[in-house]
Amino acid sequence: MTNQSILERRERAVPRGVATATSVFAARAENAEIWDVEGKRYVDFAGGIAVLNVGHRHPRVMAAVAEQLDAYTHTAFQVMAYEPYIELAEKLNAIAPVEGEAKTIFFTTGAEATENAVKIARAATGRPGIIAFAGGFHGRTLLSSAMTGKVNPYKRGLGPFPAEIYHIPLPSESSGVTLDQTLKALDFLFAADIEPERIAAFIIEPVQGEGGFHMADPGLFEALDKLRQTYGILIIADEVQTGFARTGKMFGIEHQPVKPDLLTVAKSLAGGFPLSGVIGRAEVMDAIGPGGLGGTYAGSPVAVAAALAVLDVIEEEKLNDRANAIGERIRAAITVAATRNDTVRIANLRGPGAMIAFDVMDQDGNPDGAAAKRVTGAALERGLVVLTCGTLGQTIRILVPLTAGDAVLDEGLAVLTDALVAAKEAA
Ligand code: PMP
Repeated sequence: MTNQSILERRERAVPRGVATATSVFAARAENAEIWDVEGKRYVDFAGGIAVLNVGHRHPRVMAAVAEQLDAYTHTAFQVMAYEPYIELAEKLNAIAPVEGEAKTIFFTTGAEATENAVKIARAATGRPGIIAFAGGFHGRTLLSSAMTGKVNPYKRGLGPFPAEIYHIPLPSESSGVTLDQTLKALDFLFAADIEPERIAAFIIEPVQGEGGFHMADPGLFEALDKLRQTYGILIIADEVQTGFARTGKMFGIEHQPVKPDLLTVAKSLAGGFPLSGVIGRAEVMDAIGPGGLGGTYAGSPVAVAAALAVLDVIEEEKLNDRANAIGERIRAAITVAATRNDTVRIANLRGPGAMIAFDVMDQDGNPDGAAAKRVTGAALERGLVVLTCGTLGQTIRILVPLTAGDAVLDEGLAVLTDALVAAKEAA
């Protein structure tokens, strides 16, 4: 089997709407390495899009899943519940950065988590409005697409979207939007479209993921907290990409001066198994009556077993500290690359913990998505999987497993540097 022969079958059998960043096909993977069907090895700086903070097939996760497979794989929580689901909820409630008692419910995908957080916020407040941020990403289902703040490729031709979803710009150093501009946009929104008393919640990524690894201005959270006190507008932190030690803290919102009412989690929660959740203040979480929440596969026992092991691994292997150490190593390597004159232009190195990104610019200092694409292409050829993001695809983002050793990390960074050189040569 060759990559090319599978690619041809893929093009005939699967719609192009689900785009793939690489044109090779996986055969096996271990920690921070993947091998394709032709036996070529890659260092993995994508982590399955922020899913593999504990790496591919962590032995603890594999053992927990194997044990669960021998017991039962599915009963449906709504038919006959199981204790590990409760244990996982208890563990997340204990560490959740919310005020007072917390409760947790599980789903399967990140989009399902953000949709359900909206349902819960609407039920708890009795209000319809949701304010999200331009450039944000909350999923690809219809309501979550509506909240995603980017038309191309997520919304073009796909509407109408559910009503009462509004967007304002995200203030951050790297996006160049000031807090003042955001607050003015909010005033305009309240004057032109909807009164604050009809807004149920703000939904915000503590660090925008797909949008370009922009960390929100702490002043924004203080402003949101004031609006919560004045108007009772809830705060939903979308932690799908930032959660579980990626930013050097368990949750990205812990870098901010405010506690959210609800958190959405998915991706690295279950180390490669499909599991998501909404964690929140107990009285908010109980707003919806019995039967109003759920899903046949929601909180799959296999995924729950994996997640319990993931939480143990994060604690035992001190992955918050490791995220900071990895982040420093990445920053050092990219800082050196940025001082060379044989690479594409590098700017705006940013991000907390191991959620690090930088922009590729053209000679005039404008974002250069085509050059960033050349970088990831050259990296793949040389044995590194790394992704772009950002509104123009100009951002190279690194989501390496936090369990990666220094040798593999340095190997990946050396390949990335070579790719930055090759992308300039190919210009
Ligand atoms: N929220 C955020 C912040 C995300 O990064 C993503 C996925 N990239 C989602 C929601 C949607 O998650 P899923 O693809 O599992 O539906």
